[in-house]
Amino acid sequence: MPGDLRHPWPAASWETLGFWEGCGRGELVLQRCRDCGAVQHPPRGVCGQCLGAGISHFVASGRGRVHTFTVTWQNQIEPFRSACPYVLAWVEIDEGPRILTNIVGCDPGRVRIGMPVEVDFARPEGQGEEDLAVPRFRPR
Ligand SMILES: [Zn+2]
Repeated sequence: MPGDLRHPWPAASWETLGFWEGCGRGELVLQRCRDCGAVQHPPRGVCGQCLGAGISHFVASGRGRVHTFTVTWQNQIEPFRSACPYVLAWVEIDEGPRILTNIVGCDPGRVRIGMPVEVDFARPEGQGEEDLAVPRFRPR
Protein backbone atom coordinates (compact mmCIF):
# COMPACT_ATOMS: atom_id res chain seq x y z
CA MET A 1 0.00 0.00 0.00
CA PRO A 2 1.34 3.46 -0.83
CA GLY A 3 2.18 6.11 1.75
CA ASP A 4 -0.69 8.19 3.05
CA LEU A 5 -1.32 11.35 1.05
CA ARG A 6 -0.70 14.47 3.12
CA HIS A 7 -3.05 17.38 2.45
CA PRO A 8 -2.31 21.10 2.72
CA TRP A 9 -4.49 23.35 4.88
CA PRO A 10 -7.70 24.14 2.91
CA ALA A 11 -8.04 27.65 1.50
CA ALA A 12 -11.54 28.20 2.91
CA SER A 13 -13.61 31.13 1.68
CA TRP A 14 -16.93 32.48 2.96
CA GLU A 15 -18.63 30.12 0.48
CA THR A 16 -16.68 26.98 1.44
CA LEU A 17 -15.99 27.40 5.18
CA GLY A 18 -19.17 25.51 6.18
CA PHE A 19 -18.05 22.55 4.08
CA TRP A 20 -14.54 22.46 5.58
CA GLU A 21 -15.86 22.94 9.13
CA GLY A 22 -18.27 20.03 8.56
CA CYS A 23 -15.32 17.87 7.53
CA GLY A 24 -13.60 18.92 10.78
CA ARG A 25 -16.60 17.48 12.68
CA GLY A 26 -16.48 14.28 10.61
CA GLU A 27 -19.50 15.29 8.50
CA LEU A 28 -19.77 15.62 4.73
CA VAL A 29 -21.83 18.82 4.38
CA LEU A 30 -23.58 19.59 1.08
CA GLN A 31 -25.88 22.41 0.01
CA ARG A 32 -29.54 22.19 -0.99
CA CYS A 33 -31.50 24.95 -2.70
CA ARG A 34 -34.67 25.83 -0.80
CA ASP A 35 -36.24 27.13 -4.03
CA CYS A 36 -35.70 24.28 -6.52
CA GLY A 37 -34.34 21.44 -4.34
CA ALA A 38 -31.06 21.06 -6.25
CA VAL A 39 -28.17 19.57 -4.26
CA GLN A 40 -24.79 21.02 -5.15
CA HIS A 41 -21.05 20.76 -4.57
CA PRO A 42 -18.69 22.57 -4.49
CA PRO A 43 -20.39 25.06 -2.17
CA ARG A 44 -21.51 28.35 -3.70
CA GLY A 45 -23.30 31.47 -2.58
CA VAL A 46 -26.19 30.84 -4.98
CA CYS A 47 -27.89 27.82 -6.52
CA GLY A 48 -26.15 26.65 -9.69
CA GLN A 49 -29.51 25.55 -11.14
CA CYS A 50 -31.89 28.47 -10.54
CA LEU A 51 -29.49 31.16 -9.21
CA GLY A 52 -31.64 31.43 -6.07
CA ALA A 53 -29.93 32.63 -2.90
CA GLY A 54 -31.92 30.30 -0.60
CA ILE A 55 -29.11 27.86 0.09
CA SER A 56 -29.16 25.59 3.14
CA HIS A 57 -26.58 23.09 4.37
CA PHE A 58 -27.22 19.47 5.40
CA VAL A 59 -25.16 16.48 6.45
CA ALA A 60 -24.96 14.02 3.57
CA SER A 61 -24.69 10.24 3.86
CA GLY A 62 -20.98 10.25 3.09
CA ARG A 63 -21.58 7.35 0.73
CA GLY A 64 -21.13 7.21 -3.00
CA ARG A 65 -19.56 5.41 -5.94
CA VAL A 66 -16.42 5.97 -7.98
CA HIS A 67 -17.51 7.82 -11.13
CA THR A 68 -14.04 7.81 -12.69
CA PHE A 69 -10.45 7.80 -11.48
CA THR A 70 -6.78 7.84 -12.39
CA VAL A 71 -3.77 6.33 -10.66
CA THR A 72 -0.79 8.65 -10.38
CA TRP A 73 2.43 6.62 -10.49
CA GLN A 74 4.92 9.49 -10.77
CA ASN A 75 4.92 12.92 -9.20
CA GLN A 76 8.20 14.57 -8.34
CA ILE A 77 6.76 17.15 -5.95
CA GLU A 78 6.37 16.44 -2.23
CA PRO A 79 4.11 15.51 -0.55
CA PHE A 80 2.78 13.69 -3.62
CA ARG A 81 6.06 11.87 -4.39
CA SER A 82 6.03 9.84 -1.17
CA ALA A 83 2.34 8.95 -1.66
CA CYS A 84 2.76 7.41 -5.15
CA PRO A 85 0.94 5.54 -6.43
CA TYR A 86 -2.22 7.35 -5.31
CA VAL A 87 -5.74 7.54 -6.70
CA LEU A 88 -7.41 10.77 -7.80
CA ALA A 89 -11.11 10.22 -8.40
CA TRP A 90 -14.48 11.80 -9.03
CA VAL A 91 -16.88 10.23 -6.55
CA GLU A 92 -20.62 10.58 -7.13
CA ILE A 93 -22.21 11.11 -3.73
CA ASP A 94 -25.51 9.24 -3.16
CA GLU A 95 -27.24 12.66 -2.91
CA GLY A 96 -26.12 13.50 -6.47
CA PRO A 97 -23.12 15.83 -6.66
CA ARG A 98 -19.64 14.65 -7.62
CA ILE A 99 -16.58 15.49 -5.57
CA LEU A 100 -12.95 15.47 -6.71
CA THR A 101 -11.11 13.46 -4.10
CA ASN A 102 -8.68 10.64 -3.33
CA ILE A 103 -9.44 6.95 -2.82
CA VAL A 104 -7.51 5.62 0.17
CA GLY A 105 -7.43 2.46 2.24
CA CYS A 106 -6.94 0.02 -0.61
CA ASP A 107 -4.41 -0.93 -3.25
CA PRO A 108 -4.82 1.45 -6.25
CA GLY A 109 -5.09 -1.62 -8.51
CA ARG A 110 -8.34 -2.58 -6.75
CA VAL A 111 -10.18 0.68 -7.55
CA ARG A 112 -12.94 0.29 -10.13
CA ILE A 113 -15.57 2.56 -11.70
CA GLY A 114 -18.81 2.05 -9.79
CA MET A 115 -17.02 0.84 -6.63
CA PRO A 116 -19.01 1.73 -3.48
CA VAL A 117 -17.06 4.06 -1.21
CA GLU A 118 -17.59 6.02 1.99
CA VAL A 119 -16.05 9.23 3.22
CA ASP A 120 -13.01 9.30 5.46
CA PHE A 121 -11.45 12.48 6.84
CA ALA A 122 -7.80 13.47 7.11
CA ARG A 123 -6.27 16.26 9.17
CA PRO A 124 -4.48 18.69 6.86
CA GLU A 125 -0.98 19.97 7.49
CA GLY A 126 -0.56 23.46 8.85
CA GLN A 127 -3.16 25.13 10.96
CA GLY A 128 -5.69 27.89 11.11
CA GLU A 129 -8.19 29.15 13.62
CA GLU A 130 -10.87 26.64 12.59
CA ASP A 131 -10.97 22.85 13.03
CA LEU A 132 -10.90 21.71 9.40
CA ALA A 133 -10.35 18.36 7.69
CA VAL A 134 -10.08 17.04 4.13
CA PRO A 135 -12.52 14.42 2.78
CA ARG A 136 -11.22 11.33 1.02
CA PHE A 137 -13.05 8.09 0.31
CA ARG A 138 -12.36 4.43 1.06
CA PRO A 139 -14.03 1.18 -0.10
CA ARG A 140 -17.13 0.12 1.81
ZN1 LIG B 1 -32.22 26.35 -7.00
